[in-house]
Amino acid sequence: MAKYEGKCPECGKTHYSDRKGGIVVCNCWQRCQMCGAEMDPYMPDLAMNTYGLDEKRDLAVLMVCTLHFPMFFSTKKPVEVACT
Ligand SMILES: [Zn+2]
Ligand SMILES: [Zn+2]
Repeated sequence: MAKYEGKCPECGKTHYSDRKGGIVVCNCWQRCQMCGAEMDPYMPDLAMNTYGLDEKRDLAVLMVCTLHFPMFFSTKKPVEVACT
């Protein structure tokens, strides 16, 4: 049974671990901030052709939500939650 818990600072979700100090990666960084859908991994190779927003290519874009126009680019990184 999980004894230790930690809260994600990004989304407030509580994660559990049965080890003290256990690290859980919250998946909220993969969720679109605008619509909540799961985003697709951003592929820089396709950026100029497919995404057509080449001023964004220097940013650390990790995920993209294709449900919007223009598409929503996310620079969020995985959030590690320490359970204590
Ligand atoms: Zn989270
Ligand atoms: Zn979206």
